[in-house]
Amino acid sequence: MRVYLDNSATTTAAPEVVAAMLPYFSDHMGNAQSVHSFGQQAKAALEASRRQVAALIGAAPTEIVFVSGGTEADNLAIRGIAKQFSERGRHIITTKIEHPAVLATAEALEAQGFFVTYLPVSREGLVHASEVRRAIRDETILVSVMHANNETGAIQPISEISQALAEAHEAGHRRIYLHTDAVQSVGKVKVDVDELAVDLLSMSAHKIHGPKGIGALYIRRGVKLGKILFGGHHERDRRPGTENIPAIVGFGVACELGRTSLLERMNRTRDLRDYLEQEVTRRITGVKRNGDPHQRVPNISNLTFDGVDGESLLIALDLKGVAVSTGSACSSGSLEPSHVLTAMGLPRDEVRGSLRFSFSQYSTREEVDYAISTLAEIIARLREMSPEGDTPGIRSALEGANSASTGASEIKL
Ligand code: PLP
Repeated sequence: MRVYLDNSATTTAAPEVVAAMLPYFSDHMGNAQSVHSFGQQAKAALEASRRQVAALIGAAPTEIVFVSGGTEADNLAIRGIAKQFSERGRHIITTKIEHPAVLATAEALEAQGFFVTYLPVSREGLVHASEVRRAIRDETILVSVMHANNETGAIQPISEISQALAEAHEAGHRRIYLHTDAVQSVGKVKVDVDELAVDLLSMSAHKIHGPKGIGALYIRRGVKLGKILFGGHHERDRRPGTENIPAIVGFGVACELGRTSLLERMNRTRDLRDYLEQEVTRRITGVKRNGDPHQRVPNISNLTFDGVDGESLLIALDLKGVAVSTGSACSSGSLEPSHVLTAMGLPRDEVRGSLRFSFSQYSTREEVDYAISTLAEIIARLREMSPEGDTPGIRSALEGANSASTGASEIKL
């Protein structure tokens, strides 16, 4: 059995999405900038998709700019504001738990002479609006706080933060722009740009059963961004480059499906997630849940297993066909502990012993049952091998995997 419980990393494209995209690779392959009928057909599809994306977040279509994904949306929002308002101020406020698309962008700006405040979070993984209020200085131009965290699912108090910025404005501070990375909340919970009262909001199609390599930045009417890419006049001069029409069409359909079946998806994923948490804590000892239990998206569960190495667990699960994720970024051979769980104050061994399970509307009860029993079996084995709580690291787990000659069930971890 193969069970995919890593839907926060990416999702399968919905069949309706794939079907809608296909004609735009061939029959309707026009360039949306061309004046002939091929071009006009592509342009019509582009604008129809823009309306579908806008409708999902309560925006006007003209406020949607298509970009290559969540990473570019974050870059455009943050660097665009930094560039536009650098004369006015060079201070940016963000948090310690952002995605690298925001954190690395903020660090790059620091190298260019900007000052960045990285706000702490509570043990539950939540930022407090009062911290934002305290961090505001005369030079502050931008606050960037993610909507839902990609590791814990914790939903940040964006409208309260917006309220804090409005109060600062009323008290005489010049306008501070508010950006939120909503890559993990759009299509998972109701997201409305007016309720959140944000100026900029990042979205990505592949997290909501759309294609990879396409996303959007919502830019509130009247908000001006400095240019970060140079080229033609596409996207009303806000993002140059020939529009990726097949992907944009797929994104539009994914948004439409997300909007019309939001409640059904929320209920389905919440039921599966709650079932997993309930069964795992009933059947396995030494399990803790990470992140705020109430303020969270319905499709993510982050659990710590005492005395177990998360990477070893992940590999052992994969060998049995179950795909989950740790928070650690595995880059250039080095394993970094999750910066999110670390910022929440979890001790290092608990950070190392944590896994993220993330669901989609295609996940089934049968799959979750298989994942739970596999998990229980592997953890029992790992703990048996190392009762002191020091389970083998990733290297020995990989060696175990490599030396297995007769299939995953033979592997001793
Ligand atoms: N922001 C968050 C919170 C994410 O989870 C991700 C994807 O993992 C991104 C941004 C980046 O999005 P993309 O993969 O579309 O560049």
